[in-house]
Amino acid sequence: MDTKAHGNWHAIARAIRPETRLLIDGTFRPAADGATFASINPTTGAPVADIACGGAQDIDLATSIAAKRFRDGVWSRMPLRRRVDILTRLAELVAEHRETFAVLDTLEMGKPIAEMCSIDVPASVLTIRFMAEGLDKIAGTCPVTNDGALHYILRQPLGVVGCITPWNYPLMMAAWKVAPALAAGNSVVLKPAEDASLSALLLGRLFLEAGGPDGVFNVVPGPGGVAGKALALSHDVAKIAFTGSTAVGRQMYRYAADSNLKAVSAELGGKSPQIILEDVENLTKVAATVADGLFGNQGEVCSAGTRILVARPLMEEFADLLRQEALTRYRPGDPLDPATTMGPLVSKTHQQRVLGHIATAVEEGGRRILGGALDPYPEASAFVEPTLFTGVGNDMAIARNEVFGPVGAIIAHDGPDHAVALANDNPYGLAAGIWTTNLGAAHRAARDLECGMVWINGYMNGDMSQPWSGWKLSGRGRDKCLDALVDSTHSKSVWVTLE
Ligand code: NAD
Repeated sequence: MDTKAHGNWHAIARAIRPETRLLIDGTFRPAADGATFASINPTTGAPVADIACGGAQDIDLATSIAAKRFRDGVWSRMPLRRRVDILTRLAELVAEHRETFAVLDTLEMGKPIAEMCSIDVPASVLTIRFMAEGLDKIAGTCPVTNDGALHYILRQPLGVVGCITPWNYPLMMAAWKVAPALAAGNSVVLKPAEDASLSALLLGRLFLEAGGPDGVFNVVPGPGGVAGKALALSHDVAKIAFTGSTAVGRQMYRYAADSNLKAVSAELGGKSPQIILEDVENLTKVAATVADGLFGNQGEVCSAGTRILVARPLMEEFADLLRQEALTRYRPGDPLDPATTMGPLVSKTHQQRVLGHIATAVEEGGRRILGGALDPYPEASAFVEPTLFTGVGNDMAIARNEVFGPVGAIIAHDGPDHAVALANDNPYGLAAGIWTTNLGAAHRAARDLECGMVWINGYMNGDMSQPWSGWKLSGRGRDKCLDALVDSTHSKSVWVTLE
């Protein structure tokens, strides 16, 4: 997609009149109690929109309609090819509205428009298309059994899937959750994050335009502790597909236990290591890719490689290279300027949280070699500069806790085994990267690292076939890939007595 000249994106942003009402049963409507909440642009502090604030009553209505539509079979029993056509048309419509999606997410959460154009929007289109193409590629089985019986196992949709999404990739996370659930034949109620709800509402409108039946895909923005909680406690909901923090992810299991034992998939936080072994070639190129894996999307990435484990003899040289790469590649600025590589964080509240992590690292004796200035940015904005620490021990808070901002901790290791031990000595287990020319060391590390995804001599590369998932406190779930479709179904055993 083109990234237009600076100025055009501002013009598009000024002209946008986003849908701000709840989508329930194919109709946009205000919240039952008329409440609204303000969405704030973190670049300027100005309001973007007043959005209908869904509460428990709205969620009850949305889930009961979604359950009714599921039982009616308007979607769950629709001829498969028709379902494929509607989802394929939805993917096309998302591509046609790419500029609007790009501007909505950039305005609400500060992501650079260039990233929206090169990552979020194309990946969302691809996700919807992949799930549409995949829906008849998952199958039940017919196991061999005794004479006199026929045993077949059906794969059936679950019913209503409640999707609860974070703000860091607003459109893409919605697509990752909603597309497999719909493709498998479920009805959906989506509760997007408070800080970035507008692209989810547009996605809902486009589903209707694509020919999706009313009430099959409902979108109810609102506070997590009210609307999200009501959704996760609903007895009409068969599964919660959640992406967000580990703390709220834990809640999802409690809500399931306290209601109807619904299925839960949870994609949670991370503190992922990027390991640089001593034999690595072209340290400058490695530093550039490590910087991308750390500072892309302002570091507001679950899989951000925030623990940089460097072979001790390379420490000084690598820390300096990484600092240089960060300085040249990640300059905070206006996210609607296509040349900008780093926008503000999502909100002032989150900025203060990230600054708190930085202050703790300094108190614990970390040496800040990059970052820290706040004065070049307007008071109302939520910018945090790329920040790097050396002098970090693996037990310090900055090496253990997820910051979810542009902050990296550089830690020395004494060889491959020590590096893997340091990498695994953390409660999270989402992703890891390893940089080396030693084939055996790379594959041994890939085998031994306690996480859901490993990149060798790269970071964050992938395709739709890749299961996106964590281990340990990074959760339990499968996004992307055919597993996401399978996880949106359950099996049913049918035993036929033939004699
Ligand atoms: P969050 O947990 O605060 O919120 C996520 C969603 O949960 C939001 O929609 C929110 O409204 C809702 N929510 C909050 N409290 C709730 C409650 N009590 N009951 C029900 N719903 C509730 O997370 P966030 O700040 O939006 O996102 C950042 C987090 O998401 C980070 O930890 C990041 O690592 C994680 N994340 C993980 C992945 C992954 O694939 N593993 C991807 C993106 C983000």
